[in-house]
Amino acid sequence: MFLLKSIPKVDKFIENEQFNGLATSLVVSITQEVLQSLRENILKNKVESFSEDELVQTVVQKYNELTKPSLQKLINATGVIVHTNLGRSLIDTKTFDKVKEIVTSYNNLEYDLEKGKRGERYSHISKLICRLLGCEDVLIVNNNASAVFLILNTFAKKKEVIVSRGELVEIGGSFRVPDVMKHSGAKLVEVGATNKTHFSDYEDAINEKTSMLMKVHKSNYSIEGFSSEVEFKELIKLSKENSLIDYYDMGSGHLVDLPYGLDIYEPSVLKYMKEEPSLLSFSGDKLLGSVQAGIIVGKKEYIAKLKKNQLLRMLRVDKLTLAILEENIKSTLLGNIDDIPTLKMLFTEVDKLKENANILKRSIYNICTCNILETKTVIGGGTTPNRTIPTVALVIKIKEYKPAKMEKLFREKKVIGRIEDDKFLLDFRTINIDEIPRIEQIVKDIADV
Ligand SMILES: *Cc1c(COP(=O)(O)O)cnc(C)c1O
Repeated sequence: MFLLKSIPKVDKFIENEQFNGLATSLVVSITQEVLQSLRENILKNKVESFSEDELVQTVVQKYNELTKPSLQKLINATGVIVHTNLGRSLIDTKTFDKVKEIVTSYNNLEYDLEKGKRGERYSHISKLICRLLGCEDVLIVNNNASAVFLILNTFAKKKEVIVSRGELVEIGGSFRVPDVMKHSGAKLVEVGATNKTHFSDYEDAINEKTSMLMKVHKSNYSIEGFSSEVEFKELIKLSKENSLIDYYDMGSGHLVDLPYGLDIYEPSVLKYMKEEPSLLSFSGDKLLGSVQAGIIVGKKEYIAKLKKNQLLRMLRVDKLTLAILEENIKSTLLGNIDDIPTLKMLFTEVDKLKENANILKRSIYNICTCNILETKTVIGGGTTPNRTIPTVALVIKIKEYKPAKMEKLFREKKVIGRIEDDKFLLDFRTINIDEIPRIEQIVKDIADV
C-alpha cells in the first residue's frame, strides 16, 4: 500500500526538467500508460521498489522510440535492383529536385491555364505517354493491382472474363489475380491446363456473357518444358472477331530494350502496343523505374469508360506521383536512361562494377579478408522469372564472424547484404559509388579499428 501511495501524480511528474522541450500532450499520454502499468504491477506484487528517476527514463525512452523516424535510409547491397522490400525503384535526386518545386507550391494539377477553367489531372502525362507508346489515351492509378481491379470492375462486372489456368498467379504480398478478379465483381472463366492453353480453349469458352479476354504476365514464376500459351496477338484478333475487349496485365512491362537478352522474358510495352490492343496495364515502379503507380494505356473509348467509373476516385494518384512520373517518362522519351536509377543500375557494365568494388577493397583489405567475386543476381520485383544477370560482389569476412553474423552486423548499420554459398557479400549492382565511404566506415567499426 505504501508503494501505491508513492506513485507520483501526473501533473507534478510531468514538470520534471528532463521533459523540457518535449511535446506535453505526448509526455502526458505516455506517463499515464507507464504509471497505470506500474500500479497494476504493484497490485500483483511484482514491484518491490521504484524511483521517480527510473520512471522519467522509461517515459523519455518510450517518447524517443515513438518519435524517431520509422522509414529509414538503407544501403541495398543485395544486388536485387527492383527489391520490393527495400522500396522497389529509386527516384533520381535531380528528378526529385525538379518535382519539389511543383509539390511545394500550388500548381495546375486540375487547372487549364489557357481557358482559366477546371482541367484534367491526367492530361499532363497523356501527351508524353501517347507519344512514346503510340496509344490513344492513358490513365494513371495507384498501382497495377488497382489497374487490374478498375478494368475488371468497369468492363466485366457480372460478366465473364476468360483467362488461362497457367496465368492465375500469386505475385507476392499475397496479391492473387483470381482473388482480385472476384472482388471486382467479374466472373472468372479458367481455360486450358496449368502447362498448356490453346487458342481453341478461349474460342470454346466464349458465350453471350463473355466481356473480356485477359492475359496475365506470369511474372515471378515460369513454366518450362512441355508447355504452351496463346500469344496476346491471337487474343486481340479473337476479341475483335467477337466484339470483346482484350486486356493484358503485363506486370512490370518496360519501355526500353533490356540488356542480357531479357526482352524475351519480360514483355515490352512498345511491342504490344503495335498490335493495337484494347487495354494494357503495367507498374510504375518495376522496370519502368519510377514511382508506385498503375499505368493503363489503350483505346480512347475504353479509357473514357474507366474515367467515368466512380471507383477511380479511390484509386487516383496525387500530384507527387504525376510529377515524378512525368519527369521519368520524359527521360525515357529523350533516351536519358541515367536519370532513371533502376535502368542505370541494370545497364551498368561489369567492368564498371568491378572498378567500384575495387575502390572499397583497396580501402579495407588490410583490416579484413575480402575478395572480388564475379557472380550473378536477379532483377526482382517479380520480373524476368528465373533469369539472372552478371554482377560483381565483394566477399567480406571480419574477425572470425560467420556469414549470418556478418549479415546481422551490417544490417544493424543499415547495410543489407546477402549470403551466397556460405559467404557474406556486398553486391555492387545496387551499390551507388557515393555509398562506398559509408560502407568503408562500417567495416572499420565492425573490425574495431
Ligand atoms: C507486380 C504485378 C502486379 C501488381 O502490380 P503493383 O504495381 O505492385 O500493384 C499485377 N500483376 C502482375 C502480373 C504483376 O507482376
